[in-house]
Amino acid sequence: MPSGNSGFQRLSQAALSRSRFLRLAAGALLPFVGLRLSAAAAQNSGAPPTKDASAPGRMGAILVSQFGPVKIHSYLSPADGFHVNTQMIEGPTAVVIFDGQLLLPYAGEVASYVQTLGKPVDRIILSHAHTDHWSGLQVLTERFPDARVFALDGVADQVRARGPARLDSLHRIYGDKVATKVTVPTETITEGLQRIDGVTYDFKRFVDAESDLQLAALLPEQKVLMAFDLVFSPNEHAFTLVDHFDHWVIILESLKALQGYDTITIGHDTPVHRSAIDSTMTYVKRAKAIHAASADAKTYSESLKAAFPDLQHAEWVDLSAKLLYAAPR
Ligand SMILES: [Zn+2]
Repeated sequence: MPSGNSGFQRLSQAALSRSRFLRLAAGALLPFVGLRLSAAAAQNSGAPPTKDASAPGRMGAILVSQFGPVKIHSYLSPADGFHVNTQMIEGPTAVVIFDGQLLLPYAGEVASYVQTLGKPVDRIILSHAHTDHWSGLQVLTERFPDARVFALDGVADQVRARGPARLDSLHRIYGDKVATKVTVPTETITEGLQRIDGVTYDFKRFVDAESDLQLAALLPEQKVLMAFDLVFSPNEHAFTLVDHFDHWVIILESLKALQGYDTITIGHDTPVHRSAIDSTMTYVKRAKAIHAASADAKTYSESLKAAFPDLQHAEWVDLSAKLLYAAPR
């Protein structure tokens, strides 16, 4: 169990619209992350599963961590949204949003939650160009029209070039739950220290890891590392979409060398302890070896699942294998 979760407090838990999610949350997710149920959800968890799909309540889960005047709100989507996290950094007078969800209903939940904070959205920052992190920006930019969308130099070009095809293929799976238009970042975020609404960020640019181009951010005063898709939960498979295994491990070594950053927010699943850097390294190294020994996607996928039988989201391995073997080797 990642001990880094202990500082996070459950703010609210959905009165879930589907009984299966309720059972999953009550039986698996909540004990696992050591969260405390809100009164309403606690009552629901003891009741027979509801089939009322129109029941009010949030489908995702939100964790809040407070560091003096700064709060980090982490919205975690249900599994069909790839467990994508949206981080909301609440400073004294404004909110900075990182990443926008895959599915529009979950982005809508993020927007509604941010509105309850009663502070304007200063800006939205996209961590990398994978669609599961930007599809829902469509909703966030509609709900917060004054918030500009930032990303590292190069991310906007990737979203613009690859976005339409990605949305086309996702529409076949998710229908109108994914974006109908590509939201391209308009502003460039630079590396290094920046102070936004009284919060210090140290933005870092990484290439050739889980994605071609990935933002990470250190919050030196809070000692939080926002690693996005550089680090994965020790309980879930990682995405291995491209053959960047060696360089990804080098980056993980550099993150491991950072002193004092015990809490890591990640792109998928709840925040983790720094030991997740080690488990991600182990996973990536094993995936590299399996990739080297596997002639096709099916072999890679089956071998990786067999190597880590206890990890959640085996379907992510199938997706990874498909893309990894579609690229020229
Ligand atoms: Zn991701």
